[in-house]
Amino acid sequence: MVMIKCQHCEYEWDYKGMAPFYTSCPRCLYRVKIPESTKDPWVITDEEIIGKKEEKEEE
Ligand SMILES: [Zn+2]
Repeated sequence: MVMIKCQHCEYEWDYKGMAPFYTSCPRCLYRVKIPESTKDPWVITDEEIIGKKEEKEEE
């Protein structure tokens, strides 16, 4: 999860969804870009990146 701030109404919320690039602001429904970090939820440490990325390839 990640804090997202709507650039339209400045509402902030904790995003937990699965959308890869955009989500809608729950307040004004403006389309809000999700920060880079949520696209790669396994990016926690360098070691984590290597391990989990290879497991994910199967899908
Ligand atoms: Zn908004």
